[in-house]
Amino acid sequence: MKTRVPSKDYRRQYAALWGELGPRLERLFLEEEPVLGASVDAFEQAFANYLGCAHAVGVGSGTDALALSLRALGVGEGDEVVTAANTFVATVTAIVGVGARPVLIDPDPVTLNLTAALVERALGPRTRAVVPVHLYGRAAPVVEIEAACAERGVALLEDGAQAHGAREPSGRRVGSVGRLAAFSFHPSKNLGAFGDGGLVATSDAELARELRCLRNLGKTSKYEVGTFAPNSKLDTLQAAVLGLKLEYLDTWNARRQEHAAHYRARLADVPGLTLPAEAPAAEHVYHLFVVRCAERDALREHLRSRGVTASLHYPIPPHRQLAGRDLGYAAGDFPVTEDAARTVLSLPIAPELTGDEIATVCDEVLAFFGHGASS
Ligand SMILES: *Cc1c(COP(=O)(O)O)cnc(C)c1O
Repeated sequence: MKTRVPSKDYRRQYAALWGELGPRLERLFLEEEPVLGASVDAFEQAFANYLGCAHAVGVGSGTDALALSLRALGVGEGDEVVTAANTFVATVTAIVGVGARPVLIDPDPVTLNLTAALVERALGPRTRAVVPVHLYGRAAPVVEIEAACAERGVALLEDGAQAHGAREPSGRRVGSVGRLAAFSFHPSKNLGAFGDGGLVATSDAELARELRCLRNLGKTSKYEVGTFAPNSKLDTLQAAVLGLKLEYLDTWNARRQEHAAHYRARLADVPGLTLPAEAPAAEHVYHLFVVRCAERDALREHLRSRGVTASLHYPIPPHRQLAGRDLGYAAGDFPVTEDAARTVLSLPIAPELTGDEIATVCDEVLAFFGHGASS
């Protein structure tokens, strides 16, 4: 069957934006520098203002945003970095990439995020940084986690790749609490470029200066290099796309929340299906709408056969990856994470989807569980 409901649709996004984006891009090609052009500065400042941070440094990807942040903090060989066992693998990639050891911890079973109590138990003498992940778009309690870190002199680096714009329980935007915060602008994210991109936010001027050097081959001036570092800059073209999209981010996040409310209204009482927990203090901007179901694979196959795309975030946690075989963990070490890997299913929730499409997904989920006939 052909796709009736995609998980997202970039063509719809850009068709809706083209009237504004087209002329901006034309001007950019005719007037700006391709590398670190004026649009990069403008977007960095706009995004920093949006978060409530002093500085933002655009880089090549979210993974690089994490890795360069850890480098800027001086994290390297012999250091430990605490993060969630159920994160997207890139968080772990960045920690391993700077030579540090990832110390993974199982998340809270209800929110699937880390809590201050969980982090406290994992802090040790070698811990240099903690990287909480605002998973699926739900803000993690980073103000509390930050307090636990500050007591021990440990740096907080937020992984905000899935939660642009979400407010954590104290009302602050995700990414404005940690010493540093990493964002991804992969096209699939709530704020996405037309290609790869990333950013580090901070209110520490010294770290911002260091990051501008680290993203640009370690250059301290045109011909001088202070440290060997990658070439990982946010493209001028991507910055222009992101600058326009940032104006719509709150509207789009509200649309995601509307779709989530629609799912909750229709799917709340289905035995065998667990919806994402409501945790009203922490905002959820629904990068993903992740349900849990013991018969996950059968439900996914039913949806696929009915033209509804549902995907998995994530079926193999980092410690169970081939790449993770030397991390020192084994099957069974993280029961919450491993149960999630077996049961999670992401229903379509992009802002460009229509209410009718969300209704179709609901119809098909209900049909799978024997509520009403599927048309
Ligand atoms: C997407 C993502 C990243 C990596 O971002 P890229 O831009 O794809 O490199 C890191 N962490 C999390 C939680 C992500 O979802």
